[in-house]
Amino acid sequence: MARLIPICGVAEKAPACFLVESGETRLLLDFGEGPPPGRMPDLAAIGQVDAILFSHQHADHIGAVGLSDEIGAPQLFATEIAARALPAEQPVTSFLPLSGTKTILGISVRTGRSGHAPGGVWIHLDIGDGLLYMGDNCTSSLIYAHDAPPQAGTIILDASYGIDDTRLTVGQKTLDEIAAAGPLLLPVVTQGRGPEIALHFARAGIMPSLDDAMRAAIIGLRSECVLPEVRAELAELAKAPSIPSEPAGVMIATPATAEHGAVKTLIEKWKFNYEPQIVFTGYLHPSSPAATLVAEKRARQVRWKIHPSLSENVATVRAAGAHTVLPCFGGNAEMLSAWQDAFGPARVTLDREIAL
Ligand SMILES: [Zn+2]
Repeated sequence: MARLIPICGVAEKAPACFLVESGETRLLLDFGEGPPPGRMPDLAAIGQVDAILFSHQHADHIGAVGLSDEIGAPQLFATEIAARALPAEQPVTSFLPLSGTKTILGISVRTGRSGHAPGGVWIHLDIGDGLLYMGDNCTSSLIYAHDAPPQAGTIILDASYGIDDTRLTVGQKTLDEIAAAGPLLLPVVTQGRGPEIALHFARAGIMPSLDDAMRAAIIGLRSECVLPEVRAELAELAKAPSIPSEPAGVMIATPATAEHGAVKTLIEKWKFNYEPQIVFTGYLHPSSPAATLVAEKRARQVRWKIHPSLSENVATVRAAGAHTVLPCFGGNAEMLSAWQDAFGPARVTLDREIAL
């Protein structure tokens, strides 16, 4: 009998970590850290595993890899792009394809681009009537390509936005209004929404300024990860000017928090000035310096969507023909009945063990 044991991440913003047992084989789907930084999956609950398959390179999906020796020094698998984020002493055993199939420990594994970050994939395991792990995914990215996943009986869904059905355009419109009001600093993730936000403003005729890490990320975007129609636009975007010495226009810098890097330097320099406006566009842990800036009303938070809305998730569940759904990475247990209404007749479960 095969079974799925979610270690953490079900109906909560927490590290991604799912244990799959099939016969004698035990493998993990993702092994993340945080939020907040330092929060790790329960190693005792995991025990010893044979392999870890990583969906993408964000810390909440790969950040615990340094603890691999404590769970049996498993073989590691990630796409070539995601594997670059692993520490040198934790190399992958072999690469997962961006889109294709591979046999790992006797299990047929299929992957496809997830539309969320460069090198990010969903992972389908041919176990039972199929287990589909969406990782983080998005079907409405301006830049990142997305492959339709196959049929699966059980689906681990990216419910980062809980039961929210807000469309991408809501955040875009709000950012446009803020940018029209004066200089704007946007702290972003390079391997995620950063290039998308930069492209959005460039398309609106407002060429943003970029820090070195953002420019390098745009230049480094591999063509097989991006939508064919945006490749020429990205080449132009890479020529955008550097962040000016005084606040001006739309400035896009890294990281997405105010804890280090170019953003920390810029915020320390401008924090007590009237300008620029500062807008964070992703998740902020309540204990983070960025959340403090928002609480002090020196910064704002406007969501730039990189995860699925509820209706996108409903479409994913229907297309996969899934009978069992685990909503993960957001929301809370109180949303169970709303999720059940949305995903029915599929069964929504927050159980700690699911037969496959
Ligand atoms: Zn992610």
